[in-house]
Amino acid sequence: MIQPLIPLAASEQALHQTAVRLCHQHRQLEWQIIEALQQIDRRRLFKKFGATSVFKYAIDILGLSESVAYNFISVARKADKVPALADAIKSEQLSASKAGRIVAALDSQNAAKLIEFARTHSARETDREVARINPKAVRCERVTELGRDLVEVRITVSRDVFEKWQRCQDLVSRKKGKRATLSETLSAGMDSYAKHNDPVEAAERALERKARSKSANTTELCAYRVGANRFHKQTSDPVTHRKSAKHRGPARSPLTAEQRHSVFQRDQGRCTFKDQQGRRCENQTWLHIHHIVPVTHGGGNEPTNLTTLCSSHHDLAHQLSLPIEGQVTWLRSPSVRYR
Ligand SMILES: [Zn+2]
Ligand SMILES: [Zn+2]
Repeated sequence: MIQPLIPLAASEQALHQTAVRLCHQHRQLEWQIIEALQQIDRRRLFKKFGATSVFKYAIDILGLSESVAYNFISVARKADKVPALADAIKSEQLSASKAGRIVAALDSQNAAKLIEFARTHSARETDREVARINPKAVRCERVTELGRDLVEVRITVSRDVFEKWQRCQDLVSRKKGKRATLSETLSAGMDSYAKHNDPVEAAERALERKARSKSANTTELCAYRVGANRFHKQTSDPVTHRKSAKHRGPARSPLTAEQRHSVFQRDQGRCTFKDQQGRRCENQTWLHIHHIVPVTHGGGNEPTNLTTLCSSHHDLAHQLSLPIEGQVTWLRSPSVRYR
C-alpha cells in the first residue's frame, strides 16, 4: 500500500480507499470480460447472434467501442497462447490496455522480459520497445472521423508500397496536367481497381451490353468471368447441396449469368442479412447466392427466391431454415422463413 506524503483527513482517507477499491474491481472485471470473450471466441457463440466475428459481437451486441473491443479480443487471443500474459493481468501487474500494447510482439520466449518492461515503463516507451522487437507489428491502422466529409486514415506501408504509390502519383499527375495529391492518387487507383474487379460494376456493364446487343452468350460468359473472382462460382449452395444429395431432392438447374447478375446488381454485391437492430451486414467478400425456399422444397431460380449472403450468414440461414440433422441450435422456429 502506497502511503501519502502528507497525512490524510478521515474523509480523504475514505475517498482514497474507495478509488483504490474501485480500480481493483475494474481490473478484475476487465480480466473477467477478456476471459468471457475468450470462451465466446473459442465456442463461436457470436454466430448465434448473427455476428460474423467475435469482434462484431463485442461491438454490436455488447456495445463496446471498437478500440476497447479490439484491445480485449487481441489480448484474449494472445493470453490463450501465452499464459504468462493471463497471469500478469489477473495478478494486476498489467492493465488490459497495457497488455494490448505488447501483444503484437509478445511470445512465450520474451514474455517474462516484455511484461516486466511494460509494467515498469510508460505507454510510449512500451510502444517503442514493441517496435524495436517487431518492426512489422506496429502496423496500426487508424481511422478517425474528422467531420461530415472527411476522415483521417493512418496507415503504415512498406517502402515498396510507397514507391508504387508515388509511381501512380506521377501517372495521375500527368493525366491531370498538375501535381496530384496522395489522396487523389489513391482515389484514382481505387476507381481503376473497381472498374476491373468489382462484380457489381461488371454486372452493370454486362446488363448494359446485353441491352445493346442480341448476342447474349458472349456477354454472359465474359461478365461471369469478371464477376467470378468475388462471387462464388458454384451454382449450388453448399449446405443444400449436401442435403439434396443425401435426400435425393429434385435436380437443380444452374443459375444463368443473367440471373446471377440481376441478383448481384439488386443486392449491390453485399450480404443482405440484417440484425435485430436492422443493420445490414457489411460483408462484400465470400458471397454466395442463397435460395430462400430451398430447391429441395420446390424453390426455383427466380430472382425473388434468390438472395446474396456472406458465407457466415449463409451458414446461419441454413441453420435457421433447414432442419439439418446434427444442427439443433435454433434461434427461431424453422418454419419462419429467412430473409
Ligand atoms: Zn443456401
Ligand atoms: Zn453477412
